[in-house]
Amino acid sequence: MSKKYILKFRPSAVEEPVTYCLIKEYDIRVNILRAEIYPGKSGIMLVELDANSIKLKQAISFLQHKDIEVIPFEKRIHLEIEKCVHCGACTAVCCTSALSILNEKSELVFTPDKCVACGLCVKACPLQLFQLQFEE
Ligand code: SF4
Ligand code: SF4
Repeated sequence: MSKKYILKFRPSAVEEPVTYCLIKEYDIRVNILRAEIYPGKSGIMLVELDANSIKLKQAISFLQHKDIEVIPFEKRIHLEIEKCVHCGACTAVCCTSALSILNEKSELVFTPDKCVACGLCVKACPLQLFQLQFEE
């Protein structure tokens, strides 16, 4: 199973090699989606951790023992499709093909299951019809 988490590092934990430990000691596949960490200061990281539920639980416990706050994170994209003019601008930036103009009517088709909530379509839409929604 794969889950996304926000990791909040206090200054004392910023220089800990946590990614290395997660991979080597807990056999976790780690995908760092965003990181803002400054040596000696606090930091924040958005990661996707992939492993079985037991390993994942052990890894989270390890992080918490290192004084790292672990917050489950979900985000998804909301599209006001009823206002769409089907210009196709958003399809050019969507690398997972969650957005496509494939049907006979040349209308936009949104497939939420393919969306990885990268947010690139938010800026691409001239009508600002996309909204990133965050859920902790
Ligand atoms: S958030 Fe990213 S993956 Fe999802 S629809 Fe927009 S561009 Fe595609
Ligand atoms: S960019 Fe906006 S208006 Fe154009 S197809 Fe995508 S959602 Fe519709």
